[in-house]
Formats: sequence, structure tokens, C-alpha cells
Amino acid sequence: MKKGIKIFGIVVAVVLAVLIVHQLLNGWSIVHHIIKLVDTQAPVITLVTKEDYYTKYDEEYQEEGFSAIDDFDGDITDKVVVTKDKEKVYYKVSDRAGNETKVEREIPYDDRTSPVITLNGDSKVELYVDEEYIERDAVAVDDIDGDISHRIVIEGDVDTQKAGSYQVVYQVKDNHENEASVVRDVLVKEKTNAQREEELGKVIYLTFDDGPGPYTNELLDLLDRYQVKATFFVCNTAYVDLIKEEYDRGHSVAIHAYAHDYEKLYKSLDAYYEDLNKMSDIIYKQTGERTKLLRFPGGSSIRKEIMPTLTKDVMDKGYQYFDWNVSSGDGAAEGTAEGVLARVTEGCALHDVNVVLQHDSKKWSLDAVEDIIKWGLENGYTFLPLDETSYPAHHI
Ligand code: ZN
Repeated sequence: MKKGIKIFGIVVAVVLAVLIVHQLLNGWSIVHHIIKLVDTQAPVITLVTKEDYYTKYDEEYQEEGFSAIDDFDGDITDKVVVTKDKEKVYYKVSDRAGNETKVEREIPYDDRTSPVITLNGDSKVELYVDEEYIERDAVAVDDIDGDISHRIVIEGDVDTQKAGSYQVVYQVKDNHENEASVVRDVLVKEKTNAQREEELGKVIYLTFDDGPGPYTNELLDLLDRYQVKATFFVCNTAYVDLIKEEYDRGHSVAIHAYAHDYEKLYKSLDAYYEDLNKMSDIIYKQTGERTKLLRFPGGSSIRKEIMPTLTKDVMDKGYQYFDWNVSSGDGAAEGTAEGVLARVTEGCALHDVNVVLQHDSKKWSLDAVEDIIKWGLENGYTFLPLDETSYPAHHI
């Protein structure tokens, strides 16, 4: 019996010793373990927000205050780890049981002002058709966020193939949803023929009088094949519906005469304008446009009793009249395409800017047009339709 008690005592002592050593070696892990089992609630971080408190962009954020309370550990505010970046402050704390809580706040920047966009280059840009539009971008600066140019969104296309008014819009937002937008106006203009003559040097204006006629359609197809634009000085023929076709295909349509009767036309200024207005109305009906271009039947060198007055008067009324400096000779009753070609090419070789007279009522004259175009292109000429600024080749 006595021996048994002794052995039991030794066993208890050894177990106790092992337990004590274990506790010493492992810290109070058992205690910890127990806490862990009991404390499953994460601590709560409460942020203080001061009214009307803002931070300027270049200033350090001044902490408004916070606290951390744990149901088991009590006030653990001093254990909160605070970090921040430019936009936010991050708060993190763990209680002894390892329950973690994270909260964050946005730094209350005093940003009530929109960014300012400044365009690089002019706010109004003018360029000619086919010239390149160079996007010069813009700079955006915000009082709080600094340079935010990289965030500018640019919208709006400029079609430099087509004359017109275009808008390019630059928009940007700062970090706090304040917006700004700026517009650049881009005007794409057609060059005037006066400018083109100056730049190109060698120009041919093909002009066809007295039509439309039975061969006009064929001529239009030929001009399309070579992408050549010409000018039609039209009359009141049985084919007036083709005026619309001429216009729609990009040619210039101009006034020749309603009646093409010299005796009636040049009797008086009133008689001339009566005829002109009738023809102008027909063209307007076909094209929707009032042309200011005209050619006097016979040219401005005939009817000396009225022409000096008439030519001045039409110009005063805003018209431009065109004569020609290259005649195809197709006014004759008969002729050949070869003859027309020879006269036109010889004539054009004499000047840089040429206004060529032909009639689309003469088939044999039109048969020369393809070769005239080929010759012109090979010799560095550009074919253009007349406009109000073109060289008018006045005879008087
Ligand atoms: Zn004529």
C-alpha cells in the first residue's frame, strides 16, 4: 500500500513537471487557445469625421481621429496600424484572438473646382479639302489632381475629304467627378480655282456649250472614267433633264441662253435678262442652286453696240462671264475629231490656264475629248470645273 501511494505521487509529480515545462516552452498557448475559443468577434474601428474638414492637394492629411474597441480585449486603439496613399487612409487592427478588422476612408480633398482644359494650338482651325488635320491635343490641369492631360477624351471626326464645319470635343473629369469640356472648331474648305491655278500652274477648263444634247450622256460617262470635271453652259434644249445629271456628277452648270437667238438676246439689256432669268430658273429647278456663271452666246466680243454695257452690268449684278482662250473650231458645220484635237492641244500648249470651247451638240467634237484628256494628263494639266474665281478668259 505504502509503495503504491509513493508511485502514484511520483507519477503526478512527473505529469505536473511535464506540464510546467510545456507551458514554459510554448508560452501560455493553452490560455491563448482558450481565449481564441471564447473571442470570435472582430474589433470595431470607429472613424471620426470632422465637419468642413478638407485637405488641400499639396498638404498632408491631418488625422481626424479613430478608435478601436474589442469585446474581449477592450480599447485597442493603440494597436491600430494606419497607412495611406494619395486617395485613401487604411486602418487595420487585430485582437489577441487574431480577429482582424480593416476600414478605410477617402481623404476629403477640398475639390469643388473643375479642371481647366487648354487646347494646344488654335480653337479655330481652317484647312482645305485633302489637307491633313493634325490633332494637337490639349492640356488639362486640376487644382487638386494636378496634370490630368492623359485622361482627356477626344471625340469628333474631321473628314478632310469633305468641305464642312466640324467640332472636336475634349472632355476630362477630375478624381472628384468635376468635369470640363472644350471644343475646337475645324472648318474644311474647298480651295478656290484661283488658288488652284496659282498652285497647279497648268489647268484646263473643258467647257461645252449649247447642250444638253443627245451625246451628253456618253460624254458624262467618259468624263467619269477619267474623273475629269468640266463645265456645261446650257440652253433650253429637249434634254434639260440632263442638267441635273451634269450637276450631280460634279460638273459646273452655267447659263448660256434660253433661246440662243442673237437678234432677240442682244436687243436690249431687258431682253437679255429676260432670257437669262428664264434659263436660270430652269437650272435652279434642276440643281437647286442659282449659278452666277454665264457665257454670252457668241462670246463677249460680238455686238459691240451693247456688249461693253452688258458685260459691265452682269458683273455688277454678281455674275461672272466666261469666254475662252482655246477654240476647238467646232462651231463650223463640219469637222473631224482629229482637227478638234489638234486645235485644242496646240491652243493649250500656248498657255498655262486654258478655257477650251466645245459644243456637246457636235458628236465629232466630242469624239476628240478622250484624246484631249489623255494629252492633258500626260502633259501635266489638271482638269477643273469653272467657279467664280477661275480665269475668265475675257475677250473684252
Ligand atoms: Zn452657243
